Parts: sequence; structure tokens; C-alpha cells
Amino acid sequence: MRAAIFERQGLENIDVKENVQQPTITDHDVLIKVKCAGVNPIDYLTVSNIPGVKPLPHIPGAELTGIIEKVGNHVATLKEGDKVVVYNSIFDGTCDMCLSGYEMLCRNAGILGVITNGGFADYISVAEKNVFQIPDNVQWDIAASLATTTKTPYRALREASLKLNEFLVIFGASGNTGMMAVQFGKKMGAKVIAVSKDKWIKTDFGADYIISDYDKVVEQVKDITQGKMADVVLNSLGVNTWENSFSCVGDNGRWVTFGGLTGAEVKLNIQSLYRKQIKLIGSNGSTRKEFKDIIDMATELKVRVWKRFRLEDAKEALQALSAKERDGRILLDINQ
Ligand SMILES: [Zn+2]
Repeated sequence: MRAAIFERQGLENIDVKENVQQPTITDHDVLIKVKCAGVNPIDYLTVSNIPGVKPLPHIPGAELTGIIEKVGNHVATLKEGDKVVVYNSIFDGTCDMCLSGYEMLCRNAGILGVITNGGFADYISVAEKNVFQIPDNVQWDIAASLATTTKTPYRALREASLKLNEFLVIFGASGNTGMMAVQFGKKMGAKVIAVSKDKWIKTDFGADYIISDYDKVVEQVKDITQGKMADVVLNSLGVNTWENSFSCVGDNGRWVTFGGLTGAEVKLNIQSLYRKQIKLIGSNGSTRKEFKDIIDMATELKVRVWKRFRLEDAKEALQALSAKERDGRILLDINQ
């Protein structure tokens, strides 16, 4: 089969080969013919430098969708021909975290495409417990955007207990996860303030307000909320926007994150935390139940795609992630 594969980390080392051996399946696995894969920062890091990547040679790709080609002898819930998406937290199902319903915090956790081969290939073998059927009328673009781009902000907003009519400020609102967060914010009945330079996040995705100047975020949030400030602030951009984003949180507010794109070390004044009774919340991936929730909502969601690449151009797709002019997400079309 074809696969984007590397023997040593480094973007220069990834190559698309045509004679890679098709994966085998055990009794509890399914073989998926990949149709479309999302390209995310996690894939870039897998190829370039994060530790623990296995096996080697390695096929990256943490977010994918496709059609079941073959099922193992003991697979009960899925069959050949099913359109499926893959829950990409690898978990054992037996530790205390798994038993508490937190598969993404499994004591033996890892990410598919990082500690296993991923979806930048014609075929991938995945355990049945990680594979979910998705209705045929869900577009491939959305299906290829659920496992990382969609489930992560969904859980984060639930962890932050976002409520009807509350003010939600989203930093990086037109990024992959940001555009999904805007849609969930609206679905949860919040008033969404998008921090972004892109007007389409308001016109196409329904944000109520848009703030395009990062230096004026605090005063503009103050204006919009009539001095009360935000109930929930979602910021996964990291240190560069930490101070401004924390200053946007109002009394009894929640600040939530699932990433630190520009750096993770920040300074915090504890007084400002307890006086306003602010909660700082970390969120990581999602449970399988939450993944099922977003599958059920998939036909109501949309995604803005900037560029699509063929599998043969996987390297260019990964490079395009950091393009200044990027305006929406990047997908790999495979077997389409
Ligand atoms: Zn576990």
C-alpha cells in the first residue's frame, strides 16, 4: 500500500512509498481504507521531534476517516463497508482512569499516530473499541475533523461548565479547534466573542462579536460585557496571549485550555485568582462518550478547509501548517 513514512524523525525524512506492507488485523481489530485525514500540529511534532514515537519506521496521522475493508473474527459492532471515524486516544480499558470513564487519561495512554502507526496511508488497522460508525450523510471533511479538531474544544467547554447566556471569549477563534469552539459555544447558548482577524468567523460561523486587535481585547471585552468581563475564556495559544486572556475573566469565571502553542510557562498572580474566584481548567482530548456526542452532531457542524493535498504530497501538507496565509484547515485526500 501507499504510506507517508519515515525511519528517523525530521520533516526532510518523510517520504511517500508505494510498497509499504498493509497492516494485519487481530480478532479485535478492523482494517480501514482511509478516505481523508486531517493534518494537525500533533502530526508535525510526530514527524519532527516529540519523544516516544513508535513503531519505527513510522506512519503519522492522528485524525482520519474511512471505510471498513475487513473486520476481525471477534468484532461485533462494525461490519465491512461501514463509514467510520477513529477515536484517537489509545487506552487499555482496565486501569482506574479507564474504569472511571476517562479513557484519555488512561495510565497507559497514548495518541494514535504517535505511539501507533497513523492514517497517512491507504490502510490502517485499529482496535474495535476505538472505531465508531458515522452516518453516510456526514461529509468527509467533517468526518476527518472530529478526532482532534472537534472533540477537544467540545470537552473543554463542558469542563468549563459553559451555560446559557454566558459570555464566552475564544482566543484563536478561526484556528482548527477555534472554529469548532465557536459553533459549540453557540449551541450551548452562550454569547460568543471571537478573538480573530478573520471576519468569516462571524459571518460564516456565527460568532456574536469579533475582536481583531489582540492588544485591545481586554478593553473590548469590557465594553461588550458592560464591565462584567467573560464567564468563560478558552485559550490554547499559550504564553503570548496568557495575560490578556486571564484579564478577560470576570467574577466566578473559568479559564480553560488544551494547548500552549506559543509556549507553556506563564506568570500568575494568585490574589487575582481567589479574589474573583476564578477557576483555571486543563482539558485533554475527550472521553469516548463525548466523541459519540459530536458524531451525533456531525451533520450540524461545518469546517473551513483552506487546502487539500494528495497523500503523495504529505510533506507539503505538513509544511503548510505553519504558512502565514493559512486560512482554514488542511486535509489529505486519500483514496477519494
Ligand atoms: Zn486505562
